[in-house]
Amino acid sequence: MSASQGWSGKLLWVDLTTGHHEVQTLSEDWARTYVGARGFGIRLLYDLTGPETEPLGADNVIIIAAGPLTGTLSPSSSRCEVISKSPLTGIYGRADVGGAFGAKMKYAGYDAIIVRGQAEHPTYLWIEDEKVILVDARHLWGKDVWQSRQAICDDHRAGSNSAAFLNSIGTLGIGPAGEHLSLAACVMDGVAHAAGLGGLGAVWGSKGLKAVAVRGSRGIDLARPEEFTRLCQTQWTRYQGDPMYESTRKWGTLGWVGGSDSRSAISDMMLGGRMEGIEEDAFVPLIEKSRTCYGCQIHCDHFLHVKDGKYKGTKGEGVEGWVQIQGLSFKTPSAPFLARYNNLCNQLGLNVASVGNAIIWAMELWKQGIIDASDTGGVEITEGNEEAILALTRQIAYRDGFGDVLADHPVAGARKLGRGSERYAAHTKGQSAWVPGHGIGITLIYTLSLNVNTRGYDHLMGGMSILTPDLREEWGITRELLTRLGEQRYGDPAIFRDNAWSYHPLIVQAECDFEHMMVMADMVGTCKFATQYNQPVEGIDLPEWSDFLSAATGEDFTTTDLQSAAQRTIALERSYNAREGMRRVDDYPFFLWWEKKLGEPHPLYKTSEVPFTLEEYDRILDEWYEMRGYDLRTGIATRDELTRCGLEDVADDLATRGIVLG
Ligand code: SF4
Repeated sequence: MSASQGWSGKLLWVDLTTGHHEVQTLSEDWARTYVGARGFGIRLLYDLTGPETEPLGADNVIIIAAGPLTGTLSPSSSRCEVISKSPLTGIYGRADVGGAFGAKMKYAGYDAIIVRGQAEHPTYLWIEDEKVILVDARHLWGKDVWQSRQAICDDHRAGSNSAAFLNSIGTLGIGPAGEHLSLAACVMDGVAHAAGLGGLGAVWGSKGLKAVAVRGSRGIDLARPEEFTRLCQTQWTRYQGDPMYESTRKWGTLGWVGGSDSRSAISDMMLGGRMEGIEEDAFVPLIEKSRTCYGCQIHCDHFLHVKDGKYKGTKGEGVEGWVQIQGLSFKTPSAPFLARYNNLCNQLGLNVASVGNAIIWAMELWKQGIIDASDTGGVEITEGNEEAILALTRQIAYRDGFGDVLADHPVAGARKLGRGSERYAAHTKGQSAWVPGHGIGITLIYTLSLNVNTRGYDHLMGGMSILTPDLREEWGITRELLTRLGEQRYGDPAIFRDNAWSYHPLIVQAECDFEHMMVMADMVGTCKFATQYNQPVEGIDLPEWSDFLSAATGEDFTTTDLQSAAQRTIALERSYNAREGMRRVDDYPFFLWWEKKLGEPHPLYKTSEVPFTLEEYDRILDEWYEMRGYDLRTGIATRDELTRCGLEDVADDLATRGIVLG
């Protein structure tokens, strides 16, 4: 039986080496087991690649996968996943993206596109329903993301200049950063939405794939459309009662750094201490209009226009709170400058977080006297130097000069440079962490969450908003609310309210529950801002998704089914990483990883200065492994757990490779 309600029902396989493509029917059993997007992606990646796969070789794959809710009326469900073996970390690489591509891919009839091989010359893939062609992209190679999207639209506009026609084309593509195999390269959806982490743009560059463009004329068939529409209406109404809703609509993530409480919390969490110089309303004069991903009423994005001063004429969207935080680290908090810097990253196809971390690392090395102008071609990497930041950003994209070191940040870059620079190159599993924070979060459980993530250091594993008390009190997440939610959900008024650096017996259970919600968002195609991650009272969690999915697909999905599916996805991702050599030691924050890996304390980060001990971290990690069914010694899913998840074939594969399962 094929799965064709909610899901589009087809997988498109494309081989760049031979130029052939074929369409595979999506089987109902497989779709139900792996649900979609992140679930489809890891199952395909596990089967198609392995330790023998060279991330920048022809045998790596590019998987673009949407969820069963992507492109439907379900709240904020525009999203798809871009997945490959990561050239940055050498493990599982995935990046989630909003924008419009996922919806348009489904309207063309595909739940996933799997690209293999290597093109003889630069190529892009054009899809218009059944029409699938590989187009010579030599005229696009060297163009930035904005120019190449425009050129692809020009190639197919056939005289039509209407906005409706241009908006009907979804593009995922790379800029010069991907072409030059920079490990900071991302894949851009349209002009401002990035599938950011993992250096996946370099995989596209290595295959000669400049872009995938899609235009679809179908809708999405739903099993029970009236019920589905009612559920959507109810959910949209619920948001309006949530304390975070108005803030997210008004500020987006720029609101993360607005207001004194969150300012100190974010500074503590990301920067290792209070930062001065932040301007709460810095971006307000630049906001021209709200922007949104496809079909999202939260519309957290803003279109900015700098009308005067040094960066006059800068126009673009997609500036997030992260960029504002980077501005604090760079000591360049000016909003017009940050708008320019963000645009440059988008145009060059660079993941702004990777670029920022690399530059902050370079600033630290400069300060310590480890590098000087003779290394950087005369660029002075001093704090507050806006020209240097823009110059380095370009160099990272083109691997020009010192950019060749920064493009490989953190692990390979530090190895290339040597001189003890690796002490400052904080990372988890090869994914850079905010340098001054060194992988430490705002609470003990949040620190765990940042570091056990399957794609490396990442704030999108667990539940931030209510697991980080005081962070958002000013936005209505008060002590009273946290008390009530703790009582309602876990029968303990203190669990969220007093959760900080001390151990709480239920906190790992709460973290695992949040992880299932976060993973399921990536599996169904919903933005995390529509979930309880961001809307802690009225946001979507597994019970709401079980209703949405059942009405969309006609399959009976229970909350327990979804919990099992999320658990299966995490176990499969960790098994992929285990096959690549990841073990318990790789689940520690950077300074502890250093101590355990090298058998000596981190020379810069004193354990005594950290608000928890190694024993406390070990205890919470043990408990997380126990709850997840992983071996305490290795962190690998046990055979029992893999069997529970229906992944016996994975257990056999690992055992055949000599990997000991508990
Ligand atoms: S909340 Fe923001 S990031 Fe999420 S789908 Fe809506 S516009 Fe996109």
